[in-house]
Amino acid sequence: MRFFIFFFLIILSYAKLYMELPEKPFEIIDIKGEKPGKKILIIGGIHGNEIGGYKSADILRNLKIKNGEILLIPRINFTAILANVRGYNGDMNQKFKYISLKDKDYIIVTKLKKIIKKFQPDLLLSLHDGYGFVSKNKNAWGQAIIIDEVKYKNFNLLKEAKYVQKLTNKNLKYKVAIKNTKTFSNPRDINKKVYMLTDWALRQNIKAISIEASKNIPFNEKIKTHLEMIKNFLNYYKIKSNINNLKYISPTKPQIVLKINNKTYNIKNSQAIIAPRNSKIKILKIIGPAGSYVVGQGINLNWKSFYFKNVKFNVKVDNKTFYSFRIKEANK
Ligand SMILES: [Zn+2]
Repeated sequence: MRFFIFFFLIILSYAKLYMELPEKPFEIIDIKGEKPGKKILIIGGIHGNEIGGYKSADILRNLKIKNGEILLIPRINFTAILANVRGYNGDMNQKFKYISLKDKDYIIVTKLKKIIKKFQPDLLLSLHDGYGFVSKNKNAWGQAIIIDEVKYKNFNLLKEAKYVQKLTNKNLKYKVAIKNTKTFSNPRDINKKVYMLTDWALRQNIKAISIEASKNIPFNEKIKTHLEMIKNFLNYYKIKSNINNLKYISPTKPQIVLKINNKTYNIKNSQAIIAPRNSKIKILKIIGPAGSYVVGQGINLNWKSFYFKNVKFNVKVDNKTFYSFRIKEANK
C-alpha cells in the first residue's frame, strides 16, 4: 500500500497537465403521438458490447408516431459502450435489487428506476445482443424474445411474445425464438440475490421484456432483427409509426473544441499538441452524432478530470475510434 502511495505521489509530481472532460450525455428522447395511446419505454445499451441493441435504439430517435408515447434511452450504459465491454463497472443489468452508493453506476441505475416509475409504461423493452441462437440451443441467448415467466401478475408475457415472434419471423432470415427464464418460479433461484432490469420492473407492476439479436450475425441483420421485433410490439400496442422507413445511418466524424489555458483549438484530425507546463485543458464541445465522446488511452473512463503528462485521446462514436490526438507537456 505504502509503495502505491509513493508511486502515486511520484506520478503527481511529474504530471502537471490538468484535463477536464464534458459530462457524459444521458439522452432521453420523448416521442409523442398526437392522439392518446399506449406507452412504451425502450432501453438500449445496458450491456456496452451489444451493438445491435444500442444502435437500433439510436435509429428510433427518428421515429414518428401517430398515437401513444415512446420514451427512448438509447445508451443507458454509455461508459461501457465506449469501452466496448459488457459492463465497465460490473454488470449494470444485475444492479436493480441493491446498488451501493459507492458504485460508479449508482447515479444511472437510480435515475433509470425513477424514470420507469414516473413514466409507468405499458411495456418496457430492453435491447440486447446475445450469443448463439436460442432456436438451435436452449442455453443460447441470441435471436430471442426473453420473458421472465409465461404469466406474471396480470401480464400474459408468452401471448405477447408469440404474437411478435410470428410476425417477426415472416421477415427475418435468422428466426427468433422465445426463451422463458422462469425467474420467479424456478425453485433453485427462489432467494434471488440480484434483480435484473426486467424482473425488477415486473415486481413494480410494469410489464417488461428483453429482445435479443444474435452476436453471431452481421451488423445489418442485428439491426433488422431488433427493428422487426420493435415494429411488431408497436403493432401489438396499436401504435402507428414510420418505423418501416427508418434506416441505420453511419456516424460522421466528430470534431472537438478544446481550450488550453486561454487558447481555443478546433480538432478535426489526428494531431499532436504540446501544452505549456501546468496547463489547464478543458474540452468545451464535442460536435458530432449521438454517441460521440473523447477517451484518453489508459485513463479511467469514470474520471471527469485528471492530471497527466502525455496522453493519446481517441475521438469516438460509441465503440469506434475515428482519429486520435495527443497532448504532451512541454519540456520546459
Ligand atoms: Zn445483454
